Amino acid sequence: MNEKEYETKLLSTPYPKRDAYGALSMPVYHALAYEFSTAEEMEAAFSGRTEEHTYSRVTNPTVQYFEERVKRATGAYGVTALNSGMAAISNTFITLAWSGSNLVTSRHLFGNTYSFFVKTLNAFGVEVRFCDLTNLEEVAEAIDERTCGLFVEVITNPQMEVADLEQLGRIAHNKHVPLIADTTIVPFPIFRAVDFGVDIEVVSSTKYISGGATSLGGLIIDYGLFDQYRAPLLQALADSSRSPFHTRLRKEVHRNLGAYMTPEVAYVQSIGLETLPVRFERQAAACKELAGKLQSLPEIQGVNYTGLKGNPFYEVSKKQFGDYPGAMLTFDLESKERCFGFLNKLKLIRRATNLFDNRSLIIHPASTIFGTFTAGQREMMDVKETTIRLSVGLESVDSLFGDIRQALAR
Ligand SMILES: *Cc1c(COP(=O)(O)O)cnc(C)c1O
Repeated sequence: MNEKEYETKLLSTPYPKRDAYGALSMPVYHALAYEFSTAEEMEAAFSGRTEEHTYSRVTNPTVQYFEERVKRATGAYGVTALNSGMAAISNTFITLAWSGSNLVTSRHLFGNTYSFFVKTLNAFGVEVRFCDLTNLEEVAEAIDERTCGLFVEVITNPQMEVADLEQLGRIAHNKHVPLIADTTIVPFPIFRAVDFGVDIEVVSSTKYISGGATSLGGLIIDYGLFDQYRAPLLQALADSSRSPFHTRLRKEVHRNLGAYMTPEVAYVQSIGLETLPVRFERQAAACKELAGKLQSLPEIQGVNYTGLKGNPFYEVSKKQFGDYPGAMLTFDLESKERCFGFLNKLKLIRRATNLFDNRSLIIHPASTIFGTFTAGQREMMDVKETTIRLSVGLESVDSLFGDIRQALAR
């Protein structure tokens, strides 16, 4: 889909009902419960025969409108908005997994996703199998008839490894296992995950979509193309639903876990969606330009941005994401001490976690995001003491480059 089409579809998403005051932006429906004219209508709504709202942990008009916009923009079958990216990931796997199942994934994972898999989910009897996703034989061998899903991040951070989704999708589908991808780093509409074999997308909308660090949010985007789920509770729905996953998620798991998006967040993130391609384009182009400039600095030992020619993932990155694979890069300095000295001297770039704020943000992942991990775990995950991660905002490339140069000076 080209971007103009995205904007057109998004901006013309109709309300399910005419707004009482003709409001142009979907208002924030700060309602908790909803009133019915008759007991019969109430019965129909609660049983799911009609689609009226009953209670805002289950659905809410403002959140539903946000979901509808994402649905139109992606062409998905079902979209669920939750109150963080981690809620999207945890709701997805609690829907897919069962005690005695396993999931196959990479050693390179977002810190809390790793912890959710190896601690939280594992405590309920789900085995986590880590693979090198660039070794397709290893991935194929790890999948068996108790595998509930193959999970990948489209570009890992801070390792900057790109998953070849077409290949991984083929392996997963041959074995009747769904491919689930975290697309936070290159979200729709820039990257059409479904075209590369992804069955379910999870996104931290906290990042690009929120419009610049306005709020926490998460999305589960189900394309409804996969129907051979193995969890007993999903199999039970196979005959009655086009997507057993979406049905179980909406009728059971998300209601029970209670992490639905709030209407205020849906309102601001819905506005964030309107400017998503424009912001992405500017930030990613600036990131690429800056990555090129940083390569010329002798103090920097290696710049990792998959859109640079010569990057080991350049070809697969270009195939999947085009010329501008996001607005995040990493680079290495000679030691941890050198990284800290550099960070402390920055004047414009902010020392903070988070990605895709409108401001540029910088962090030393090994001592922060992965700071509570053991040295052995960090080594297993290829998180190095010498790596710095930069998320490029909307400032000018010249001023960002200038700040980096002055902070590198001894
Ligand atoms: C931030 C992030 C998450 C978690 O999202 P939250 O909204 O902070 O819960 C998951 N995956 C990736 C790739 C992220 O960058």
